[in-house]
Amino acid sequence: ATPTALMVGTGRGAQLGVLIRGPEVLEQTRRVDTVVLDKTGTVTTGRMSLVDVVAIDADEQDVRRRAAALESASEHPIARAVAEGWPGERPEVVGFANHEGLGVTGEVEGTRVVVGKAALLEREGVNVGDEVAAALAAARGTGGTPVLVGWDGHARGVLVVADTVKETSGEAVALLRGLGLEPVLLTGDHEQAARTVAAEVGIDRVVADVLPADKLAEVRRLQAEGRVVAMVGDGVNDAAALAAADLGIALGTGTDVAMEASDLTLVSGDLRVAATAVRLSRRTLATIR
Ligand code: ADP
Ligand code: MG
Repeated sequence: ATPTALMVGTGRGAQLGVLIRGPEVLEQTRRVDTVVLDKTGTVTTGRMSLVDVVAIDADEQDVRRRAAALESASEHPIARAVAEGWPGERPEVVGFANHEGLGVTGEVEGTRVVVGKAALLEREGVNVGDEVAAALAAARGTGGTPVLVGWDGHARGVLVVADTVKETSGEAVALLRGLGLEPVLLTGDHEQAARTVAAEVGIDRVVADVLPADKLAEVRRLQAEGRVVAMVGDGVNDAAALAAADLGIALGTGTDVAMEASDLTLVSGDLRVAATAVRLSRRTLATIR
């Protein structure tokens, strides 16, 4: 192997919009046969918006205001959508806590409020009744992401947020498949939201409802099947999986933590560039032989 060819390949990558950590990364890139894609912010834009609000046993304004107050302390894409869904003044929050991959809690207007997944509400002693469960199921059916809001022992509303698939994601998946890579969609979101996005971009294999700490385990599971795995992600919650993958690919539009854990960075966040990188590695290493 000539170091010169590798250096040239690395330089060419930079021109094509992919930052390569070091020349040896091209060898890892060439060997990859499976590409795990994070959903939110990677395959989708990550710019969520509030599409529906259902209040049960509560005033809709209270549901919106309390949820927005809590979420304005979180950086999650869902949080931004919920916070922006209440244009009025936001009450102060006392004792805010972020529950990674689940939601947020804190005291608003003298009441402890829980916002997030059903699993979080249950853990916090907030009962999810039949009406809320039905609204939750309806939201899932549309492919949206339901965010439950509860206080004083009961879930009282469902805020539905939705995201859009990046314009280039479908083509990117087709290009990766064309290079012989199998795509897998990985997300902390629920199964139906994952399936909706997967169908839109042409992915068959989906792993949903994964806690941030378990994303790494999913990568390891695929590696245990004998696969050489690339992981593509943007979030803090993807960092461990990016580091564990045979090839970690971060988006330049994502968090610094994800980029630091990765071997490649797609500068513009366009997933088609991942296919470009694979092609480049194959061409560069073919030259060497
Ligand atoms: P992803 O894997 O799609 O990037 P996360 O692991 O960050 O998603 O979150 C998984 C799920 O946890 C979300 O789909 C949502 O249901 C819930 N969740 C996480 N953070 C929040 C939050 N701040 N507010 C409400 N729900 C949240
Ligand atoms: Mg993400």
